[in-house]
Amino acid sequence: MQECKAVLKSRGLRATSQRVVLLRLLLEVEGHRHLTAQEIHDRATETLPGLNLATVYRTLEGLNEAGLVDRLDAGLDQVRYSYRDPDHRHGHLCCSSCGKVDEFDYRLVVRLAEELKQRHGFQLATHHLGLSGLCKTCQSRPSEEK
Ligand SMILES: [Zn+2]
Ligand SMILES: [Zn+2]
Repeated sequence: MQECKAVLKSRGLRATSQRVVLLRLLLEVEGHRHLTAQEIHDRATETLPGLNLATVYRTLEGLNEAGLVDRLDAGLDQVRYSYRDPDHRHGHLCCSSCGKVDEFDYRLVVRLAEELKQRHGFQLATHHLGLSGLCKTCQSRPSEEK
């Protein structure tokens, strides 16, 4: 709890109870899972019973802007949030058919970023790159209408 408050302060954010609860929840989430705002809301209301979903969204977006929380557009209208851990950088492979989200090695992100920089002078936002496509299982499924 104290740690979360200090982190918020270091980013110039007031340590409101919503921010502290959401940040701690994402910091302590098991297995570095990325949760939807709805899942975060369901967990947070155990501590803050009156909390509504709109406030959860607003708070998460604020934490994202402050660089404390990563936002992943996982396709299928699913946005997931996670604590930004500088020691666990990674990219994501998001299946646009079944919604499965996998992690991939950050070194691949770095390689892509370097190539893009060289060829296009483009600076890729590397801290949490989400790629969309089809997972292995969905590719081998007999092709229905896609
Ligand atoms: Zn899939
Ligand atoms: Zn992630």
